[in-house]
Amino acid sequence: MPIDIEKDDVPTALKKLKARENSFRLLESISRLGSWEVDLITHQSIWSKNSYLIYDIKPFSIQPSLEYFLSHLLPEYLQKAQQIIKELMQTRQPQTFQGKIKTDAGNIKSLLINSQVVCDADNKPIKLVGTTQDITQQVKMEQKSKELSSIVEESASEIYIVDYKNDNYLYANKAALNALEYTKEEILQLNIVDVNRELTIEGIATLKKEYEQINSPYISKQVIHTRKDGTSYHVQSQLQKIVYEGKDAYVIFSSDVTQNIKVSELVKKQSKLLQHRASHDELTNLANRAQFQEQLTNAISVAKKEGSSFALFFLDLDHFKDINDSLGHHIGDKVLQEFSKRLSKCIRAQDTIARLGGDEFTVILHNIAKLSDIATVANKIIDAMKIPVKIASNILHITTSIGISIYPEHAQDKASLLKFADTAMYKAKDKGRNNYQLYSTGMTAYAYKRVIMENSLRMAIKEEQFSVYYQPQINIFNNQLAGMEALVRWQHPTLGIVSPIDFIPLAEDLSLIVEIDRIVMKQAMKQFSAWSKHGLYPGKLSLNLAMQQLQQNDFISNLFNTMKECDFQKGWLELEVTETQVMNNPMHSIKKLQEISDNGISISIDDFGTGYSSLAYLKKLPLSKLKIDKSFVDDIPNDEDGMAIIRAIIALAKSLNLGLIAEGVETEVQKEFLLENGCECVQGYIYSKPLPSQEMRKFLETF
Ligand code: C2E
Ligand code: CA
Ligand code: CA
Repeated sequence: MPIDIEKDDVPTALKKLKARENSFRLLESISRLGSWEVDLITHQSIWSKNSYLIYDIKPFSIQPSLEYFLSHLLPEYLQKAQQIIKELMQTRQPQTFQGKIKTDAGNIKSLLINSQVVCDADNKPIKLVGTTQDITQQVKMEQKSKELSSIVEESASEIYIVDYKNDNYLYANKAALNALEYTKEEILQLNIVDVNRELTIEGIATLKKEYEQINSPYISKQVIHTRKDGTSYHVQSQLQKIVYEGKDAYVIFSSDVTQNIKVSELVKKQSKLLQHRASHDELTNLANRAQFQEQLTNAISVAKKEGSSFALFFLDLDHFKDINDSLGHHIGDKVLQEFSKRLSKCIRAQDTIARLGGDEFTVILHNIAKLSDIATVANKIIDAMKIPVKIASNILHITTSIGISIYPEHAQDKASLLKFADTAMYKAKDKGRNNYQLYSTGMTAYAYKRVIMENSLRMAIKEEQFSVYYQPQINIFNNQLAGMEALVRWQHPTLGIVSPIDFIPLAEDLSLIVEIDRIVMKQAMKQFSAWSKHGLYPGKLSLNLAMQQLQQNDFISNLFNTMKECDFQKGWLELEVTETQVMNNPMHSIKKLQEISDNGISISIDDFGTGYSSLAYLKKLPLSKLKIDKSFVDDIPNDEDGMAIIRAIIALAKSLNLGLIAEGVETEVQKEFLLENGCECVQGYIYSKPLPSQEMRKFLETF
């Protein structure tokens, strides 16, 4: 109740005053507000209870003063406080001061002080009155929120606050503005669909519904942000409902994921890829030469430590060059891929494979317990190649020659192990390919010989150190000369006559066979035409031709030119191609041989029975003759199996309407068997060894 000056007597007025004083004190304590006054005449101060508590002192335990306040103020606020007091006295207007004190208990407190001057009737200042408020908590909060908003503002990820009701932007931090290239003012005019252009109002409504239903405080979504200039980028956005400036809103945290993928992941991926590329062969994904060197180093150090041994396989595809030359690199590449696939299936997980380049591969078989383990794996590899490879319309037979060296038996260093495996591989090539050879010390001399051979073979071609021997082919039905086979001999200046068995495989490997066969062809054709001019009838000339030769683009034109040059008639000619070479790539052979046959030249299949002929292909090949391989003739009369094969070949030839000749016939028994079973021609020592031309002339004159 207010005091009524007219009606209230003094005790009533005092009572009312007391009541007001009490309620004021209550208010003061609730608000944690301290009040104070300073008598400017006596310099005495009066503090309320709360004022003492603010200074951490027991109420009314000291005589308060303005000095007490000033002496507890932190030094940096002193000047400001004195300034305020001065202004207060001069202006007599209420003043506000904010500063920090340190209490005797050691607490730093932020205070907000409001003060006013009280004057007497003559307008002379007599008192300073005021309140002190402990605002430590508020200041701390303010500071915290300032820090938080600066964190939000400076954050590297884009942060947006959007009005929940209308989806207008309420806030966007620096990163967001930078990313979108809008100014703060511009974005506050925009709606979320202006930036997230693939979103629709309905889409947003669904999203909000989704959000209400899930248990998580936020939802995450990948969206596309469109910049002011219309370009866009992908972001991962996290959306969370909040209250912002009293409004329902949602905050969106977005980070540019295109950037993410491009910079952390891409670098990682790329370095991994580069590492893999540096150590792997692109075509087969096997380890490459560099990685193989490392594998071999490791194998040696492990074997050394464990006292174990390992085997190094050196593999080379047989006749790979022919495949590449005839069908092109893309088919060659597929063959290599298929080869490496099959090879991988033949070895254990702990063993390693590498492609050194071209058609050369290596395998390291670790921890070899016994020699037979090596043979088992080598045979497994050879067997794995038996199934023909089908690439496009080509059926290809791939075989491999394997050379093997063993650690520590053959060598203990990398270079020697590799060299010895390579040497053994060449030995396997010379042994007819499609087999494996274990290194032996004798092979080093052989490898040396091979290098010498290579050089002297090149010289031999230049100097035409080749002569042709002729071996007659006799029709045993009528005892007439059917023709003769031209067989090359190398007249080496120091070694004497070198057998073709010793240099033809090398010549094929080095692609020198093409040259050699052309030399032989020319010599033999000249000889034939000379004999016929002398009235000697030599029959047909059988020329051995390597598939490599037939694949030469100019083969046919060269053949006809040579015939013309030598005055040789094409009806006199027959070409021998081995079954293995034809069946290596039957589809291609069919095409090539058809072309030759279309030119009126007959073709016979040499070494028949040793390859992989199938009836289907034989039917399609334009052949005139099958030549039964010597190995079956050798079986007569003791080996029933071989003899059964001969009978089968003869039956096959008859059914296909093909001529027959048996090679390597040495005995009368063999000849009789062949005659009885219907093979019309034979060739062999029984009639004559291959003869040089002068001796052949004598044979022709006497036969
Ligand atoms: P091939 O075409 O199977 O020739 C038959 C081989 O058997 C010849 O060996 C011949 O001397 C031998 N031979 C013939 N009859 C008998 C016999 O009754 N008993 C025995 N033990 N052997 C007999 P050669 O002349 O050493 O030729 C070996 C191989 O070299 C040939 O096998 C052929 O594949 C190849 N060759 C020879 N001359 C040429 C040529 O000019 N060009 C090509 N590309 N290869 C050739
Ligand atoms: Ca032959
Ligand atoms: Ca033969």
